[in-house]
Amino acid sequence: MTEAGQGNVRGVTSDAVQGAPTKSSEPYKTYGEEDFVQRNAEMRRFNASHKYIFVVGGVMSGVGKGIVTSSLGKILSARGLKVNLMKIDPYLNVDAGTMNPTEHGEVFVLDSGLETDQDMGNYERFLNRDLGPEDYMTSGMVYKTVIDRERNLGYGGKCVEAVPHVRDEIVDRFERAAKASDSDITVVEIGGTVGDFQNALYIDAARVMHMRHRNDVVFIMVSYLPVPGALGEMKTRPTQHAVTALNSYGVQPDFIVARSTHALDQKRKDKLSVSCNVLPEHVISAPDVKSVYDVPLNLERDNLSGLILKALGMETTQQTDLKEWETFAAHAHNGQQTVKIGIVGKYFDTGDFVLSDAYLSVIEAIKYSAYHQDVKPEIEWLNAKDYEKDPTKVSELAGYDGIIVPGGFGETGIEGKINAIQYCRENKIPYFGLCYGMQLMTVEYARHVAGIEGAHTTEIKVDTKDPVIMILPEQIEKMAKKDYGGSMRLGAYPCALKEGTIAREAYGVESISERHRHRYEVNPSYVAKLEGAGLVFSGTSPDKHLMEIAELPRDKHPFMLGTQFHPELKARPLSPHPLFTAFIKASLARKGT
Ligand code: GLN
Repeated sequence: MTEAGQGNVRGVTSDAVQGAPTKSSEPYKTYGEEDFVQRNAEMRRFNASHKYIFVVGGVMSGVGKGIVTSSLGKILSARGLKVNLMKIDPYLNVDAGTMNPTEHGEVFVLDSGLETDQDMGNYERFLNRDLGPEDYMTSGMVYKTVIDRERNLGYGGKCVEAVPHVRDEIVDRFERAAKASDSDITVVEIGGTVGDFQNALYIDAARVMHMRHRNDVVFIMVSYLPVPGALGEMKTRPTQHAVTALNSYGVQPDFIVARSTHALDQKRKDKLSVSCNVLPEHVISAPDVKSVYDVPLNLERDNLSGLILKALGMETTQQTDLKEWETFAAHAHNGQQTVKIGIVGKYFDTGDFVLSDAYLSVIEAIKYSAYHQDVKPEIEWLNAKDYEKDPTKVSELAGYDGIIVPGGFGETGIEGKINAIQYCRENKIPYFGLCYGMQLMTVEYARHVAGIEGAHTTEIKVDTKDPVIMILPEQIEKMAKKDYGGSMRLGAYPCALKEGTIAREAYGVESISERHRHRYEVNPSYVAKLEGAGLVFSGTSPDKHLMEIAELPRDKHPFMLGTQFHPELKARPLSPHPLFTAFIKASLARKGT
């Protein structure tokens, strides 16, 4: 199995995943043709009161456009409105499943099983609700739909072109997402920065939306204002150029969110206002802040939600209620006590830099559970390869309050992870295994406790004599029927919890739903032997065939638990994940002893 791109070879048709199959037999019409009026009237009925906000980047990427978009979702929903946030990735990848996490960050899986960009994770976390597959699009997805439709004669013999056909597919997707989420406002983040060749069609599609829904569309440019060291002065000119570039598409921003290391002063606010033709109060200062959770609060200081609603001609339904959020954000600053968590993994180093984005949701999940217990987590990255080269090095884990082995693919550092897990088990250090971390916890237990010496996962050793973790043939069959074209178990699956276990106690309910992204499973033919040796499968699929949670009884170990799913994908600031909370609790107890 290859490690690059995580060996995701599904060839998934995105629409199959999205449950929105291409209706290629339907005649396709562009917005310029005779049925424009009828089609427009249809959409209008739904769209009569629907509002759209497009977020476009200026000057450079990586300045927090995703967090600004998430924050818009937060402050608008704090006004009692239903908001859906939509992300556009201009890549040609059909979904994010094939992207390498060290280059692109984490792959975030939705309930539907769609593999998306990590920004979708931020959106769900800030909104405190699930988003649908319609809320994500890549150029690959859009082009695939158009090309499939063309192959099925959906364009009635016409020459198929970027404009109008591809652009109109994008317009349709905006409106479909709005309808599917049944929201009041759809906020769309267009990836990249204005002027990027690959996002031009999206900006044009947004322009068409403005044409179609004149008073219901607002454009926000999130731009960067550098303060060059040698000058020591904040420069507005790059942003002026970015606005000019946006104007060349026929789009005028209604708001400018000015990202910088410093707050914007009145002089520069006025300058941007005059040169970019934006109301002075619509130029919003967004300096660097300590924590991303402060961003919605900061934006609200300039009354951004009120100004946006006014620009959209919406009645202000109620005052912003951010009380719960404020309390949570304050925790990020206030916690006195700390808890030291080590993450043993491999997707950390890229060149000379450490990229923790590959595990963004894990970090966030730890934070939420820690903050709610009034402690600050100190997270350290531990390279599994080190414990492979020198197994005695695992003794350094004694210096941690808790250890996590997160999800992963392939061979790198695998025996190092198993060494680390063994050390945690034998020394009663709280251990939490996520997906691969659960599979390897099972392998370790099989090898060293259940006496199944050759135990391994067939991901690494195809011909192992004891395939404790393997791809189940019936799973492959099921996946194929689902038309996912491959063998990954993706998205939300139900799980039944066993009475009297740590998991059951933590969740406080009998059955749960959690998100998956893996191929391999615990081999059912080893379950009896493992259970006989003391391992408890506290969560299973309702038919008891798939092992979803493994744990050790509390009298044997304070917290040794692994999940086949990814609980981190459902952890939210205002509703921390129960298993992470139980893990942090156990880690704090160790710290106390
Ligand atoms: N590599 C393992 C599998 O495919 C685990 C995947 C994961 O950790 N997400 O089953």
